[in-house]
Amino acid sequence: MKLIIANWKMNKLEAEIKEYFSAFKPRNCNSEIVFCPPFTYLYLLSQLTPYKLGAQNCFYEDSGAFTGEISPKMLKDLGVSYVIVGHSERRNLFKESNSVIKRKVLKVLEHDMIPIICFGESVRTVTRENRLKEIRAQVRGFKSLIKRSVLAYEPVWAIGSGISPTQDDVLEVTRYILEIEKPLALVYGGSVSENNCKEFAEVTDGLLVGGASLNPLNFQRICEKIEEIRAV
Ligand code: PEP
Repeated sequence: MKLIIANWKMNKLEAEIKEYFSAFKPRNCNSEIVFCPPFTYLYLLSQLTPYKLGAQNCFYEDSGAFTGEISPKMLKDLGVSYVIVGHSERRNLFKESNSVIKRKVLKVLEHDMIPIICFGESVRTVTRENRLKEIRAQVRGFKSLIKRSVLAYEPVWAIGSGISPTQDDVLEVTRYILEIEKPLALVYGGSVSENNCKEFAEVTDGLLVGGASLNPLNFQRICEKIEEIRAV
């Protein structure tokens, strides 16, 4: 069974979400599908869909004077199962460090949810050695937590760019991670489309899909194509 995660980022309003789920009807899909809408629509999705719920971020305390933040305890209360932590947009735009990300991961685990820890090199032209070095620096601190987490390999340069690595590149990174520790699942993310989804899902446990998950029919075709892998 593959894991397919839809990261909607800061997109969609209530009417669009209702329309989305009247169109999104994947056939023969045995994958675990996780939708990560903005916080404000998690409850709506919990009422509207049978799919697992994921949050795109969280804070690392349960409650208190942290204006504007959302705690893992609150997410658990909403029925959330997964929480994305350390997405490159959080690392870069909101300056989240590995130590902040680790505190979030610990809090998510404390509330019996599964962290989806994102990692990946920032530059496309980096050498193999430097790529693995950068990845090692990102995941090293999480070593003891990896086996309770989902890891998402997302080369930063591939996110939203329409450019993606080769299947061999992804395979090399998955092998490297497995040498460190085996996560609950290792997924690939970065410009996944219906044209390339199979090649990435063949060498991983699934996918993290951004842009292509915003259109229900595109995302449905991705979910359906993944099934063809097992049929082979
Ligand atoms: C993402 O949001 O993590 C992502 C991989 O986006 P995209 O699929 O659009 O590259």
